[in-house]
Amino acid sequence: MMKQMFSVSALCKAVPMDSLSLFGQRKKEKVVVIMGATGTGKSKLAIDLATHFPPAEIVNSDKMQVYQGLDITTNKITNEEARGVPHHLLGTVPPNASFEADEFCQHATLAVGSILGRDGLPIIAGGSNSFLEALVNHHREFRLRYQCLFLWVHVSLPVLHSSLETRVDRMIQAGQVDEVRQLFQRHDRDYARGIRRAIGVPEFHAFFEAEADGADDSTRRNLLEAAIHDIKDNNCKLASRQVEKIQRLYGMWKRNMHRLDATEVFLKSTRHEADHAWQDHVLSRATRILHNFLYD
Ligand code: ATP
Repeated sequence: MMKQMFSVSALCKAVPMDSLSLFGQRKKEKVVVIMGATGTGKSKLAIDLATHFPPAEIVNSDKMQVYQGLDITTNKITNEEARGVPHHLLGTVPPNASFEADEFCQHATLAVGSILGRDGLPIIAGGSNSFLEALVNHHREFRLRYQCLFLWVHVSLPVLHSSLETRVDRMIQAGQVDEVRQLFQRHDRDYARGIRRAIGVPEFHAFFEAEADGADDSTRRNLLEAAIHDIKDNNCKLASRQVEKIQRLYGMWKRNMHRLDATEVFLKSTRHEADHAWQDHVLSRATRILHNFLYD
């Protein structure tokens, strides 16, 4: 799965000065922000756009994917999926460290500066709207230096919920239970810090406890089923909450924010059809909007 691509220290390169206009005023540099609920295709859109507008680099804004580990559970992209596009703040923070909006703002601002310093296009992508809101609305340096284009990948909630349930089944098949078992500690019920907050971790506690106690097969099977059920439920609730938050942000940012409806992609039954729908409904539109933002 995902290997660390950029260390946090690699972000600490000198931040370039803004270019100055003819009249000596600061000209804002351009940054793309890709938003959307969990499981809508934000990471894919970020990579697709990065390959269309090279050189581009991606700054992760998912508050769980910043942590090292739990690559299956947090659904980090694989090296293959990254297609050589450099990623920042992806799997770089130690699992128990505190990494909240302040740290995100500081590191994301440095990363954006370093990408622009390499003449690259910075693409911030991830589902943590509180991080984005802190960066764009409350972080003075970021607000003054950068002009943002917001792309919102939307999928109708009933369609997204059913896709999220299938995704959980795929994660289980990919080895999520073994991955999370490594974090289990018999007497530690604190799931309020670091990566242990990720959906897909606390839900397994009772199951691992039963395993440790040598519970019988049927008890363990029931607890595993209950955990999977809760993970599906919590993912669906997360998606609904995230859409509500994005709708609120849309009220503030709508002048620079574009909603891309990817629902059709999720309704296709073959990979081939889904790829075509992605191209037609999401990527071609996003490419046009981004082209206008960069060159108009
Ligand atoms: P909140 O203020 O509710 O934390 P937020 O906008 O800061 O919202 P979200 O990305 O919506 O951040 O994450 C909320 C919660 O959803 C996280 O604390 C975590 O439990 C879970 N979560 C978010 N991203 C993931 C992920 N990639 N994998 C697993 N769980 C996640």
